[in-house]
Amino acid sequence: MSYDTNNIFARILRSEIPCKKAYEDDHVLAFHDIHPQAPTHILVIPKGAYVSAADFGAHASDAEIAAFTRAVSRIAAEAGVEGSGYRLISNHGPDSHQEVPHYHVHILGGRPLGRLVT
Ligand code: IMP
Repeated sequence: MSYDTNNIFARILRSEIPCKKAYEDDHVLAFHDIHPQAPTHILVIPKGAYVSAADFGAHASDAEIAAFTRAVSRIAAEAGVEGSGYRLISNHGPDSHQEVPHYHVHILGGRPLGRLVT
């Protein structure tokens, strides 16, 4: 799947659409989900143009992958859910109902999340 440069997260990265920023560095942007599913619901995205986890894993540089991995746990800690726990979700492709075709990880926390069944 080729990258759609007009997807909503690409537009957020270009500052064409506002976001409630949680974190930013050279490789990573994180912002609060517009329809939160939990008290903490933050989306972490690489600044590079990657459609999915597979695309990111195959084509991102080691520096981008390291920055992204470190940012996720740092953002969770800064959001205050490190101790109580949190869930990471990344949807990939149609069966997962991936809505935005720019790789992202959801950080969900701040309440008991129940068992992950589907
Ligand atoms: P996906 O189904 O994993 O692709 O999740 C996409 C997420 O992006 C959903 O949880 C949406 O609520 C969220 N979302 C869509 N547009 C925006 C926005 O403009 N700002 C913040 N979150 C958004």
